[in-house]
Amino acid sequence: MIKRLGLSVFLIALVGFFSFTNAQKDRWQQKVKYEMDVTMDVDANTYQGKQKLHYINNSPDTLFRAFYHLYYNAFQPNSMMDVRSRTIADPDRRVGDRIQNLSPEEIGILKVNSLKMEGQDAKFVHEETILEVDLPRPILPGETVVFDMDFEGQVPLQVRRAGRDNAEGIRYSMSQWYPKMAAYDVRGWHANPYIGREFYGNFGEFDVKITIDKNYTLGGTGYLQNANEIGHGYEDEGVTVPSPNGETLTWHFYAPDVHDFMWAADPKFTHDKYQMDNGPMVHLLYVKNEKTEENWGELMDYTVNAIKFMSDNFGKYPYDQFSVIQGGDGGMEYPMSTLVTGHRNLRSLVGVTVHELIHSWYYGVLGFNESSEPWLDEGFTTWGTNVVMDAVFDKNENFIQDGNYRSYFRLASAGYEEPLTTHGDHYNLNSAYGPGTYSKGAVFVEQLTYVMGKQNFDRAMLRLWDEYKFKHPNGNDVIRVMEKISGLELDWYYDYFIASTKTIDYGVKNVEAAGANSTKIALERIGLMPMPLDVVVTYQDGSQETIYMPLVIMRGEKPEEEGMPKRVKTQKWPWTSLSTDVTIDRPISDIKSVEIDPSQRLADINRANNKFEVSVEMEKK
Ligand SMILES: [Zn+2]
Repeated sequence: MIKRLGLSVFLIALVGFFSFTNAQKDRWQQKVKYEMDVTMDVDANTYQGKQKLHYINNSPDTLFRAFYHLYYNAFQPNSMMDVRSRTIADPDRRVGDRIQNLSPEEIGILKVNSLKMEGQDAKFVHEETILEVDLPRPILPGETVVFDMDFEGQVPLQVRRAGRDNAEGIRYSMSQWYPKMAAYDVRGWHANPYIGREFYGNFGEFDVKITIDKNYTLGGTGYLQNANEIGHGYEDEGVTVPSPNGETLTWHFYAPDVHDFMWAADPKFTHDKYQMDNGPMVHLLYVKNEKTEENWGELMDYTVNAIKFMSDNFGKYPYDQFSVIQGGDGGMEYPMSTLVTGHRNLRSLVGVTVHELIHSWYYGVLGFNESSEPWLDEGFTTWGTNVVMDAVFDKNENFIQDGNYRSYFRLASAGYEEPLTTHGDHYNLNSAYGPGTYSKGAVFVEQLTYVMGKQNFDRAMLRLWDEYKFKHPNGNDVIRVMEKISGLELDWYYDYFIASTKTIDYGVKNVEAAGANSTKIALERIGLMPMPLDVVVTYQDGSQETIYMPLVIMRGEKPEEEGMPKRVKTQKWPWTSLSTDVTIDRPISDIKSVEIDPSQRLADINRANNKFEVSVEMEKK
C-alpha cells in the first residue's frame, strides 16, 4: 500500500500447482485451491457464498486445528481494529473513530454457517476476525483434504482498504472478502487478527464465480473465463455478446499461482485495455469524469512502461493480466491487480500505480510476508518505486533515494524507532511503522548496492527472483542470495540494520603530514553499527582516489564499482576498533579533502563529520 505520513506522501509513501520439484530439501509450503460461488445483493450490500477448499498439507506436521480469516468482522464497533485505531497515540486518519460510528447497515460481517472436512462436520467458533476450527480428524503430513463451507457477508461502508461506496463513490472494493485459510509455515499458524496491517497467505489457485446485477463491470485478480458471454469490454474483438437472460450475470474467474483474490465492481466503470507485446493484457477500470478522464487516459502508457522496465530489470512479470482499478482508500496491492483512488494529479496517479504494481513482484510473486516482515515488502517496493518513477516519469539526475534516507534519518533521531523485525500490527506508533518499513526498508536495499557493489546487487536481484518466486522468501533468504552472489558474509548487516536500531556514524577525525611524502588519515567509528567504508581522497589537481575499508567480518571485498574513483588501497577494519589510521604515500600539500562515501549510499546519520577539508595552515604545520 501507499503510506501517508503527515504532509508528505510516501511514493515516496509457472510453477504448476503441484510441482515444486526444485525447492530446497528443507523447505515446504502449504497449497490451497479455492472454488467459490457467490451471489451479490447490490441493494442490501450482502452476499451468500459456497466455498470448496482443497488443502494440501505439505508440512511434516500433523494438523489438529485450522484457522480462517474473517476480515470484514474488523469493521464492527469495539473490534480489535476499532479499539487499536482509537487508542494508538498517533491514529491513522483514514480510520480514527469511523468504525465506532458505523450503523448496523454499515458494519462489515463475514459469517460461516457450516463447515465440513471430508464430509464430516467441523466444530468452529467465530473469534471476531478469526474462525477457530477443531478438525473432525487430524490432517496428516502430505495429505490433501477438502473443506466445504457455506458463508455469508455484509460489505462494510468503506473505512480501510475494502468496502462499499468509497470516498470517490465506487460501489464495491472487494478485498479481504471471503473466509481465507490462515497461512501455515515453518513458524506454524499465522492466525493474526485483522488490526490494520497487511497480508500473508499460502499460494494456490482460485476458481471464483460471482453472480451480480448485470449492469456492474468487474475487475480484479484472475482471468475471466466466460468473457464472450459477459462482455463489459472483456469480449474478444468482433464478438457480439448475447444480451443476458434475467437481471444478473455470473462472472467466472480463474487465477493460478496467487495467494489472494480481490475483485471490484461498479455500474459506471469505463474499461480500457491494452495487450503488451511479450507482456500482460493491462486493464484500467475507472469512472470517467472531469477528475479522471485526462489523467487516466495517460495512465495506460505509464503502466505499460513500468511493467516493461520491471520485467527487464527485476524478473519477468509471470501473469497474463494486470488491472489498475479505481477503488479503495489510497493504493493497495493485490495479485494481478491494484485498487487506487483516482482523483489525483498525473504524477500522483502514476506514482501510486507504479508503487502498487511493484508490489506484484515482491508481495505478489515472491510472496514476502507483509505481516511479520513488512519492511521486506514495503522496503523493496519503495526502493523500486523511485527507480521506476525515475525511469518512466521523472528522469532525474539527483540521488533518487535521497528522500528515503532523509526520512530514515529523522526516524533514527526521533527516539521512537523500533527494530524492523517487529510484526506490522505491533509497532507502538504508526509513525515508527511508516518511515521504518518504507524508508529504512528502502535504505536497506540501496545500501546493499554500497556494501556489495551495484553490479553484484543487480545480479542478485534476478537470482532472488529465479530462486524464490512463489516461495515466500524471508529476510534471511534475501541475505543468503546476496551472500551467494557477492561472496561476502552479510549476516551482520541484517542483524544490525533490521534486527536492531543501532545507527551508523563514521567520521574523518584528522588528516596530517606523516612525513615529507606521506599523509595520515585518522578515521573514527562513532555509531554502534559497523560498516565498510569508501574513503575518497581529492587532490589539489582535482583527481580522486578511493581507499576501500571492508570489515574483517565480511570475509571479502566488493569489486571496484563503475563511476567510483580508482581504488588505490584496501585496508580491512576489525569492527572492535573504534578508530584507525590510513597512511597514503602523498604529501599533505597535494591533498584537498578526504570524504567518507561521497555516493551518499551509506546511511551515516551525521554526515557533518564525513568530509575533512585540508586547510593551508595545516599544510604548513
Ligand atoms: Zn506499498
